Amino acid sequence: MAVHDKYDVVIIGAGPAGYVGAIKAGQLGLKTCVIEKDKCGGICLNWGCIPSKNLIHQAQVFGSIQELKEMGIKFNLDSFNYASVHKKSRKVVERLNRGIEFLLKKNKIELIKGKASISGKSKVSISDGRVLDTKTIIVATGSRPAEVPGFEFDHKQVLSSNDILSLQQLPESLVILGAGAIGCEFAYIMNTFGVKVTLVEMADHVLPFEDAEIAAILEKSFQKSSIDVLTGHKAVTLTKSDDGVDVTLEDPEGGRRTIKAQKSLCVFGRKPNTENIGLENVGLKTDNGYLPVSDFYQTAVDSVFAVGDVVATPLLAHVASKEAEIAVEYIAGQHPEPRIEIEAIPSAIYCEPQVASFGLTEDKAKQADIAYQKAVFPLSAIGKAVAIGKPDGIVKVLVSPDSHEIIGCHIIGHDATELIHEALLAKSSELLTDDIACMVHAHPTLSESIMEAMRAVEGMAIHY
Ligand code: FAD
Repeated sequence: MAVHDKYDVVIIGAGPAGYVGAIKAGQLGLKTCVIEKDKCGGICLNWGCIPSKNLIHQAQVFGSIQELKEMGIKFNLDSFNYASVHKKSRKVVERLNRGIEFLLKKNKIELIKGKASISGKSKVSISDGRVLDTKTIIVATGSRPAEVPGFEFDHKQVLSSNDILSLQQLPESLVILGAGAIGCEFAYIMNTFGVKVTLVEMADHVLPFEDAEIAAILEKSFQKSSIDVLTGHKAVTLTKSDDGVDVTLEDPEGGRRTIKAQKSLCVFGRKPNTENIGLENVGLKTDNGYLPVSDFYQTAVDSVFAVGDVVATPLLAHVASKEAEIAVEYIAGQHPEPRIEIEAIPSAIYCEPQVASFGLTEDKAKQADIAYQKAVFPLSAIGKAVAIGKPDGIVKVLVSPDSHEIIGCHIIGHDATELIHEALLAKSSELLTDDIACMVHAHPTLSESIMEAMRAVEGMAIHY
């Protein structure tokens, strides 16, 4: 059992938390090692953000066939093969995998392939028998799809998000249980490629954590594109048969109905990977599976930090990376801003139309009895949105009534996930609506919708 040179930091897991933390640590001159049992990039790169966004991109290209037909271009779709769509998504993943390994090398980070666990306050054991000696440990082991009793994945008919990203052949029909970000993105992808999709959500609207007005617009758009959306319906049983699955749903009045589909995708949430990583060896306990941490992501054991999906903050790649940067800066003796402000975390859902937001929703403001003023500006009043055939959507901004400080911004529409950052930059720079309203925006752009929404706060929008 060899004990290696003492490291400043050993990071377990090379997802967006682990590899970003490692690069940051290398930049700050810390002797760093990152241990990964699978592929660099974690869920985000291998089974999450990146392959799903590539499939969305390919679905958008596929979905533009109608427009090309209107231009007189003739198509024969007989040779369309979803296997090549899948293959392309994996190629993108492979390319970025290599990119991360290159960046780790460039920043002089030691990458060890193997399964790691904490064996002491300053010791990490690897599956090959090595034990590393380190001043600090960062747990960045991420999460996995949550499995619900009665809806266990069989990876053939009952699929997880990993499984659907591995499909090389499209099912004829798909019932998606859970209309969060992942459920909505796959509803869009599969429906665009011609799969008959039923999207089921227990809450009273799709994207339960987003603003209800925005979710209602998405729901309408999904229904218009022939996705069957059933909100307020709880999936109670799932039965498998030779030709697919039967899912029984219960509505709020207790009425039952059964949906038949060739396959089901169960996206009920995610579970943190905090088992079998040696937490017990240093006396660390989890809360509902998550590791409790301080403002600098330090656990109850001073030398052990935890970042990303293993802590109870939004399970998003950009949150994971930022948390890792804060933890590493703290370890390096710098004075980072503590813990990311939850109201300043952007949320982004990449179906068409896209949804992006930050800060309070109207419901949350009401529940917390926070006074707000609201302004809504429709994309249909924006020249660029009409010119490119994407007039559906709104920009909705919530501000404090007196100061006009932005307390929430919610966008649905084309490129919403890019547009949100102008409003977010304004919020994080403590700018007011008037600062955006007065800034000259290029014409024609979708960004004009942000300017107009801010003008609308004063009742001074020009185009509506
Ligand atoms: P992970 O990415 O899970 O990485 C953890 C790593 O640790 C893994 O590589 C794992 O192999 C490794 N590991 C675990 N245990 C050990 C061990 N004992 N030893 C060594 N290595 C270990 N987020 C967004 O922000 N935007 C999106 O568009 C988005 N889309 C998504 C789409 C899907 C389908 C899914 C499932 C998720 C999506 N997410 C998205 C969420 C995002 O992927 C996660 O929030 C992010 O990957 C979390 O990063 P992490 O580093 O904490 O964990």
